[in-house]
Amino acid sequence: MATVYFSTARTLRWDYHHSVPGKLEALLGKMTFSERFTKDEWVAVKMHWGSHGAFRIIPPVMIRKVVDAVKATGAKPFVTDTVRIMGLDYIDVANQNGLNHLSCGAPVVLADGLYGRDSILVKAGPILGDIAVASAIHDTPAMVVCTHTKGHINAGYAGAIKNLAMGCVSSSHRLEGWKKGRGAMHCHGELGLQWNPELCTFCEQCKNVCPLHSIEFKDGTFSYHEKNCWHCGRCSRVCQEGALTLPQDDETFQKSMAEAAAAVLSTFKKGKVVYVNFLFQIQPECDCMPVADVPVIQDQGMMISDDLVAVEQASLDMLRAAPALPQSAAEEAQIKPGDDILFKINPRPMQLQIDEAERLGLGTKKYELVRIEP
Ligand code: SF4
Ligand code: SF4
Repeated sequence: MATVYFSTARTLRWDYHHSVPGKLEALLGKMTFSERFTKDEWVAVKMHWGSHGAFRIIPPVMIRKVVDAVKATGAKPFVTDTVRIMGLDYIDVANQNGLNHLSCGAPVVLADGLYGRDSILVKAGPILGDIAVASAIHDTPAMVVCTHTKGHINAGYAGAIKNLAMGCVSSSHRLEGWKKGRGAMHCHGELGLQWNPELCTFCEQCKNVCPLHSIEFKDGTFSYHEKNCWHCGRCSRVCQEGALTLPQDDETFQKSMAEAAAAVLSTFKKGKVVYVNFLFQIQPECDCMPVADVPVIQDQGMMISDDLVAVEQASLDMLRAAPALPQSAAEEAQIKPGDDILFKINPRPMQLQIDEAERLGLGTKKYELVRIEP
C-alpha cells in the first residue's frame, strides 16, 4: 500500500497556510526532500510549458514552491521540459506563460537541446525497443515530476505517466529519427500520415500547428515532408474533420506510454523521483494544443507521492468521481451524475496506462489517501 498525500483546492480561512501555495508547502514537507536530495545535486523539476494558446499550465508560483523546497536541501533545481515546438519558440512560450528564472527561482532549460535532438537511447521494452530519453533527464540524478492532470484526445487521461513518457522523451533521435522518439508511441506500423480528401475542408489548421512546417497544400492536395516528420500527431489531433490520421491503436499507445515511463525511470536510482499532481484547470485536452478550453471538472487539489502508479490511480479515481462543470465540453457531452467525464469526452482505455505501469513494477494501484489540511 502506497501513501498519497492530498490537499484540497478549497480554501476556507483567510490565512496563508490555507492558501493553495501554502498547502503545497506542507505537502512538499511530507516527501522529506532532505533525505532524497544531497547538497549540490542537480534536480530536474519537470513540467509542461504549454503552448502559444494553451495557458492553463501549472502556475509559476507553484513551481517556485517546488524549487524552494529543493533548494532548502542544498540541491540545485532547474525547471525543464522537452522540445515540442522548436526550442527557441518553446522558450518563448515558457516565458509568455510566466516561466523564467526570475519567477521560478531556478534556470528554465530545455532537456533535449534547442533542436530536440540531444537524447540518449535507453532500453524500453517489446513495443518500443529503445527510446530516446532527453539527455538532461537521463544525466540528472533526481527529479520532481510536476504534472497538470487533464484530458487528452489520444490518451483519455494525461497525468504523470504521460509526463514521463511523452514529456521526457525527445521528438526525434539524432541518428535514429522519429522511430526512437515519441513518434514511436504515436504512430504504429510503417504507414505515415493518412489524408482523406473527401473529408478535408482545407482549413489548414494542421499546417499551422506543425512544428517543422512540414505540411503543404498545393492544387487541392495535401503533402508533407515524410522524412523530416516527427510523427508527433499534432496535425492529426487538431483536424476536427477526421481527414488526417496517424495509424495508431489505443492499446499499444497506452501500453507504450507505460513502457517509455519505465525507460525514463530506469535512469534514476530508487527514491530519487517524486510526483506532484496538480488536479487544477482540468481541461479536456493537452497543454500542447493550440488552445485551452474551459475546465470540465472543478479544481480538486494537489497530490504528492513517491509512487507513480499510486498517485496516478488516486488522481484518476478523484477525477472520475467529480461532478461535471456547466458551460464546458462536459455539458456538451451531456454528462450525467456518475458518468466518467474524461472517458465521455475522450473515450480511450486510459486505465490501461496505469495497469501497465503497475505490471512493469513502477508502483502499486493500492493507495491510502492521506488528507493534509492546516
Ligand atoms: S486540419 Fe484536417 S480538414 Fe483542416 S486542412 Fe488539415 S486535414 Fe484538412
Ligand atoms: S506529425 Fe504532423 S505535426 Fe508532427 S511533424 Fe509530422 S507533419 Fe508535422
